Amino acid sequence: MAPRILLKISGEVLGGKDGVGADGDALERIALQIKAVRKKDIELAVVVGGGNFWRYRDNASLNIPRTASDALGMMAATMNARLLSEALMVVGLKARTMAAHGNFYFAQPYTPSLGVEAIEQGNVLVLGGGTGNPFFTTDTTGVLRALELSCDEMMKATKVDGIYDSDPILNKDARFFKHITYDEVLQRALAVMDLSAVILSKENNLRVRVFNIYEDDAILRAASGEAIGSLITSNNDTRHTR
Ligand code: UDP
Repeated sequence: MAPRILLKISGEVLGGKDGVGADGDALERIALQIKAVRKKDIELAVVVGGGNFWRYRDNASLNIPRTASDALGMMAATMNARLLSEALMVVGLKARTMAAHGNFYFAQPYTPSLGVEAIEQGNVLVLGGGTGNPFFTTDTTGVLRALELSCDEMMKATKVDGIYDSDPILNKDARFFKHITYDEVLQRALAVMDLSAVILSKENNLRVRVFNIYEDDAILRAASGEAIGSLITSNNDTRHTR
């Protein structure tokens, strides 16, 4: 059976250097990397964030209710999902956009079975709308969708090399973890993903790889099983030694 991977991309990455709005070069670069992954017959679902357009915490000063602000964040994630799907089709891939609260015009309504069907038909499945609920993030969405779609691993593409015990920009002695357990991430309260995402992956033993999307061929290398970045697993999971 072909490996199936869930890739989580933050909206910031789609915004390029500034991390805001949409950046054509960033979209094309990501689309070409995803094309290389598909060439290897690896199945892919992608969860995109919305932070390049809207994050509730960036807009707290507006004083609108959290649920309304989160609704805008989820719409932003759907915009990005459609945007990425279009960029994938430009490079010749089959792509399908689905979202929690999809409406058939912007994105199809997501259900796990429709998602699996789209993947099995050879599409890259691009998922927007977050979990469809306020008070969550697209990291948690990534873990949730990885589990729903029976993915082998979640790959979280970031702007940093992986997981450190402190901010490597502020602390030059920051320790880098090539492998770390869910429990250690929780105990140390490391800011790699929100805690709900870590707990959900721990409860379901979902491997999570965190890597720098700006490294050469990062998505392809991570999807091919190369040990780039940091890997989060349980204590007795030895797959990180591969
Ligand atoms: N959001 C939400 N529920 C979800 C996922 C996202 O309410 O299940 C909202 C939330 O306001 C968040 C915004 O959408 O700030 C953008 O998502 P996120 O911050 O995860 O995007 P990223 O930082 O990955 O681009």
